[in-house]
Amino acid sequence: MHRLKVISGHVSPYEKNAVQEQVILNLCRGHPKSPADYFDFDDMLTEKEVQTRYKVRQFMEKTVQPIMCKFVEEGQFPFHVLPELYNIGVHGDIFDDEATSTMERAVILMELARVDASFAIMWMVHSAIGLMGIKLCGSEEQKKKYLPSLSRYESIAAFALTEPTVGSDASNILTTATKTNNGWLLNGEKKWIGNASHNAIIVVWAKNNTNGQINGFVVQNNKNVKVEGLTVKVISEKISLRSVQNCHITFSNVFVSEEDRLPLATDFRTGPSKVLAFSRLFTGIIPIGMCMSVYESSLKYLKDREQFGVKLASFQLVQSKLVQILANTQNMFLLAYRGIQLMDKGKITHGQTSLIKSQNTKLGRECVALARELFGGNGIDRKYGVATHFVDMEAIYTLEGTFDANILIVGREITGQSAIKKGK
Ligand SMILES: Cc1cc2nc3c(=O)[nH]c(=O)nc-3n(C[C@H](O)[C@H](O)[C@H](O)COP(=O)(O)OP(=O)(O)OC[C@H]3O[C@@H](n4cnc5c(N)ncnc54)[C@H](O)[C@@H]3O)c2cc1C
Repeated sequence: MHRLKVISGHVSPYEKNAVQEQVILNLCRGHPKSPADYFDFDDMLTEKEVQTRYKVRQFMEKTVQPIMCKFVEEGQFPFHVLPELYNIGVHGDIFDDEATSTMERAVILMELARVDASFAIMWMVHSAIGLMGIKLCGSEEQKKKYLPSLSRYESIAAFALTEPTVGSDASNILTTATKTNNGWLLNGEKKWIGNASHNAIIVVWAKNNTNGQINGFVVQNNKNVKVEGLTVKVISEKISLRSVQNCHITFSNVFVSEEDRLPLATDFRTGPSKVLAFSRLFTGIIPIGMCMSVYESSLKYLKDREQFGVKLASFQLVQSKLVQILANTQNMFLLAYRGIQLMDKGKITHGQTSLIKSQNTKLGRECVALARELFGGNGIDRKYGVATHFVDMEAIYTLEGTFDANILIVGREITGQSAIKKGK
């Protein structure tokens, strides 16, 4: 397939009315290659991966970008666009689809994140974490029961591990599962649980009271099923990833049948840890898309805006910051690319995924801060395309293990000494 090498830039919200038509035209002619793809990473992808990248980019620019600012401000998620995402082939169960390469999944995430990190996180929690909890730990019957509606986004997957008082020390959660005659009673609280409020299928992790091990349970939260003792409240006061519906959940003797216990999750290692070891690599992909976006917006802005009678782009200090964003983005992509190869070979270690997550969010954090700075005051105005990435990167730096927690996982792997939990 011919790849048109057109550098047309990306439509920042502040200029979208003026440039939108031109970009859509370019999309019709070929691919609007991002100037952030400085080392021509498209060239490292298969034709199918490239096609997917630009199909998702077009969807995000046309359908999501024009509405996202409002949804972010209001702390709502545009669930109504998900059928369209399904229609372009990005099914909710794409991480369970053998015809889709790991790299293709990664470029989908990059492209979602390039327009909005909340959108990418919501999709990742659904497809790579919640749904994968059922895929990796569930029975064949559970997969048949839950995966089809999750694939079509008729229900949305969530993963409930973190608690108000237990975060990094996740193997010591306090929520309990007590055996009854025909099922289990869940008691406890979960905090920060993304996607749990809307037609949700929630994978809940709780300590089995009988043997003290972590087990997984499927709890549904939708308007058609009243679950006694379940309360789900959206956390609306957050400054970051505002569009993701993060929830505070309480379980007060919530009954779950034996059929909804995930049989392959018998402890922390075979349960949440197995899912997170898989998904953490993908969390490290999201900052790449965000940094592509802030680089594109910054380059355009600095070439357009003048101070002291000359273009901002002509100042040495400005160029230095711009190049740092570009360099970080190239490094992040290369590290993730190698991680994906190792995952495909079945050779990736927990330490390696943690290294990718921690380094890419650290470099990403530097990029969004530099971009925010380069925009001056406009750097805190959402319309200019960097402010939302700036605040969103903070949460991505912390979720799925904080930067330090991930560093300590690498440290444990390379030294054989655990500094996370002494003596283990
Ligand atoms: C926007 C957002 C979305 C999220 N989505 C979900 C979700 O869908 N499902 C879910 O289950 N969870 C979710 N989380 C929770 C997330 O995984 C936790 O916030 C994260 O694991 C950190 O836990 P904590 O916030 O309790 O911080 P804490 O564990 O209290 O850590 C506080 C500080 O102490 C440091 N620290 C902790 N332990 C050590 C140690 N051993 N050595 C050195 N320093 C240490 C940390 O690095 C951090 O700086 C989400 C969080 C956010 C912010």
